[in-house]
Amino acid sequence: MTDTKQREQIAWFARSIFERGLTFGSTGNISLRLEDGWLMTPTGSSMGAIDPAKISRLAADGTHLSGDPPTKEAFLHLAMYGERPRAKAIVHLHSIHSVAVSCLCGLDHSNVLPPLTAYQVMRVGKLPLVPYFPPGDSELAEAVRRMSARHHCLLLANHGPVVAGSSLEEAVYATEELEETARLFLLLRGQDFQPLNPADVTELEGRFPVTC
Ligand SMILES: [Zn+2]
Repeated sequence: MTDTKQREQIAWFARSIFERGLTFGSTGNISLRLEDGWLMTPTGSSMGAIDPAKISRLAADGTHLSGDPPTKEAFLHLAMYGERPRAKAIVHLHSIHSVAVSCLCGLDHSNVLPPLTAYQVMRVGKLPLVPYFPPGDSELAEAVRRMSARHHCLLLANHGPVVAGSSLEEAVYATEELEETARLFLLLRGQDFQPLNPADVTELEGRFPVTC
């Protein structure tokens, strides 16, 4: 894919996410891995109005090369990419249902959401909770790095999801699956519900291994 097409793809997905209420204000960010660095949505920009020409270009070491300055949360993306060499794209949102779940007491921190649907197991998998650290805290990057080797989807406590994919499309779809599963989980709270049984989860995990 050409540089122009990649930039247009980022802007298209960002706008799609914004228009469907999955992000708001200037929150949320998207990045794409290049052969020699990254493209990243700029700081302070609305996902609904990303100018492809102003998308930040970073060198392999994270140095800002061109375009507007990158999102202040670039470190989250770089921490995850560092542990997941096959990841081609990362999406980070403050999407409301995922954030709501990240604020609940009594969560299993090793896997926040029970397995409710097959698509959740296939696209999201086990979802650990990353402890809360203030935005920009270097310990947040370290915590993300530690958990990223084994998980392509993370939920930051009182903050939101960070999701890697084998393409931008896959990262967006997994983020949406996570958000919808979080909504489902909130709808089911306080009710008797039947999660998938462990044998069915294991079978799905074997049949649809994570490719990023
Ligand atoms: Zn954030």
